[in-house]
Amino acid sequence: MSYQVPSKFPTTVIGSYPKLPEASELIKRRDRGEISEEEFHRLIRGPIAEVVKDYLEAGIDIVSDGEQSREDMVVYFAQRVQGYEEGEWVRIYDNMYFRKPIIKGPLIRTSPLAIEDWLYTSSISGGRPVKFIITGPYTMMEWSFNVYYKDRSELIMALAKVIREEVLDAVRAGAKYIQVDEPALSTRPWREEAELAGEALRYVFSGIEAKRVVHICYGRLERILPYILDYPVDQFALEFKNSNFRLLPYLKEYGYNKELGYGVVDVHSMQVETVKEVKEAIEKLMKLDVLPPEKVYINPDCGLKPLPREVAKAKLVNMVKAASEARSEW
Ligand SMILES: [Zn+2]
Repeated sequence: MSYQVPSKFPTTVIGSYPKLPEASELIKRRDRGEISEEEFHRLIRGPIAEVVKDYLEAGIDIVSDGEQSREDMVVYFAQRVQGYEEGEWVRIYDNMYFRKPIIKGPLIRTSPLAIEDWLYTSSISGGRPVKFIITGPYTMMEWSFNVYYKDRSELIMALAKVIREEVLDAVRAGAKYIQVDEPALSTRPWREEAELAGEALRYVFSGIEAKRVVHICYGRLERILPYILDYPVDQFALEFKNSNFRLLPYLKEYGYNKELGYGVVDVHSMQVETVKEVKEAIEKLMKLDVLPPEKVYINPDCGLKPLPREVAKAKLVNMVKAASEARSEW
């Protein structure tokens, strides 16, 4: 089966989709040791199939597994990489808490981490490409405690090694789009931080024959942007809508010329963007005259996980309609 991804304004997602109740239940059962890892990935196929059904009905060109297996973007990997131990609950902001994992020994990838869900998703996506999505070394480092590695540079490279092994296997399995999520980068928008992350990502991506995407969102995106432009990646998928497109003029200012995953849908608002609104957002970018439509991917700001399922789906439906109408205009 082959699916033709449109050459202009292809539509995609950042990764997570509202967690289906069955998926949350399965995660708990696995954590309590009631089901094995193998059984877990077999059973999680049910929720993944539901997510993919929504994507296909909305008409998304490049889909994901909806991250139904992942309690959160750090804990999921920490639970599966040797050297990590479960941590205490810590507060991130407001009433958001997560179990910040602890690195207590050498980090070793003893088996594939997320490839099984990717393979299953690919088997039911009607030929549509499925993004392989993994949390990046910088974000894994920032959102873990470390009591083993002597400094951050040693730590981030150990994480990069684990992630690279996983990415290589994903590419061998057929993944054409590799997305590394680095939301922590915009929380510390300084040159030295961007350079540290850049070195790790260079290692993760070296020699990778697939579309290399890095996703960053929120925080001080406009401050980090100039420091990441020379990263060895094909595309940055960035949040725009939530910050009212504040980042747009900086694309021009810094001569941005990579592909752009353009965030046109706010995942922290229950209000469904209209087709007209999304088209206007696309127009704003096109009128800047920095990128041709062939280099612009249309996606939400971030993962859709914070939304109820029907709102998430309605947002995707309008986003796809807007991209499709924009194709005939640009
Ligand atoms: Zn994000």
